[in-house]
Amino acid sequence: MLMTSRNSQFFQRVRILLSILFSAGIFLAGGTTSFAAPRLQPVEDKIVIVIDPGHGGKNEGTTENGFQEKSMTMTTAMAMYEELCKYDNVEVYLTRTSDVNLSLEKRAQYAADKNADFLFSIHYNASLCHEMYGTEVWIPAYAPYNAYGYQFGYVQMETLKDTGLFLRGVKTRLGDDGNDYYGIIRESVARSVPAVIIEHCHVDQENDIPFCDSEEDLIAFGREDARSVAKYFGLKSTELGVDYSDDSLVLAEASENGRAKLSLNDETDPDVCQITLSDADYDTCEATFEISAADYDSMLLYYDYSLDGGKTYSARFPWPDANVFDGTYTDTFTTTLQIPSDTQPKVIFRAYNLYDLDTESNMVSFSQTFQYKEPTSTPEVQPASDAVAVDGPALEQTQTAEKLPEAEPLPDTEEEVGILDFLMICLVVVIVLFVIVLVSQILAERKRRQRRRQRRKDAGDDTYQSR
Ligand SMILES: [Zn+2]
Repeated sequence: MLMTSRNSQFFQRVRILLSILFSAGIFLAGGTTSFAAPRLQPVEDKIVIVIDPGHGGKNEGTTENGFQEKSMTMTTAMAMYEELCKYDNVEVYLTRTSDVNLSLEKRAQYAADKNADFLFSIHYNASLCHEMYGTEVWIPAYAPYNAYGYQFGYVQMETLKDTGLFLRGVKTRLGDDGNDYYGIIRESVARSVPAVIIEHCHVDQENDIPFCDSEEDLIAFGREDARSVAKYFGLKSTELGVDYSDDSLVLAEASENGRAKLSLNDETDPDVCQITLSDADYDTCEATFEISAADYDSMLLYYDYSLDGGKTYSARFPWPDANVFDGTYTDTFTTTLQIPSDTQPKVIFRAYNLYDLDTESNMVSFSQTFQYKEPTSTPEVQPASDAVAVDGPALEQTQTAEKLPEAEPLPDTEEEVGILDFLMICLVVVIVLFVIVLVSQILAERKRRQRRRQRRKDAGDDTYQSR
């Protein structure tokens, strides 16, 4: 018995070590990838999908910048329809195929009549301030449709993240009555049809315009949307030669009875936004600030800054390391601003959360004027080795040349060690440590056994002698 329990203790230790090694491996290989979760929405064998090209007829949608949303949504929806029809076991319908007025109730009722598993409403965006950019998915606020929408929206973010579009996340919006704000979502859910709005990008902002200013772009969006739908439902296409049925489990963690935290309508401004001046160079007109900000309910998405005490603001910049997949972001970062010459700026930053609400920082004022000065021209200083090469005798030159290659390679290769190499080294170190511990455990166990055998032998001898 004693032996077995010691053995099991030994194996317990090995198991712990193995699990540590395994987690280390996952950590090194996995990065930010979330763990796979099952699709919460139950479906039959045949999937029924309704695509809703947003707007139509008199309802043109956004017309900013010469774009016409109602026709853009039609192009994208048609491409999504054609692509989805290439998958097996799907029925695909469009709420409209021409430029007609169609109420949100009728669109939702059409989906309900078709017994749709999902309604996808296709849109393009514009903002009042014309400063917003990026792609987002609006989903139902309440269970179980919130979970279905969240799992689809997450797939859509994954699908679009490599296009270079800024990701604005998967969100809900509530009206004053506490119900879903967006009509197509509200009307669909009221008829038990899960529905989401895909806002592909902003037609009135320079970062996004290149993503939607040609027919090919709009068609590409439709194909990406179809791909997300196929991934979400785990579809298979003999025609396209793709099979997402195995990948269908790679969905965001969500709870059928709960609401995904990141998708919750945050109606409060970011909680903290503080700036401090780290460095100012009045000659080169550069000022470096440290920005600390946080939003305890959601996350931060953009920042901008003012140099004139809040009268005018810069374009919006992506908040450093904002990650809509897990809600993380850098809470403190530094950035250097170029200050116009002959000014005494009054600097304010603003932090924006996932729901476009912002908080202004404290103001940093300057009493000294930034005045650009040309760097004083200094004679060209040549590197020491070059100087030797030019001035020194021929013999020294060759000596230097001979010595250098031997001494130099090490730092060079060290500089080239990338993050992958670093991770590989970490993995190797972990494996080596594991092997060392394992071997020492085996040796210790063997020694213990020997000692026990010896003790038993001694005890046996004693008994024999005493008898
Ligand atoms: Zn729209």
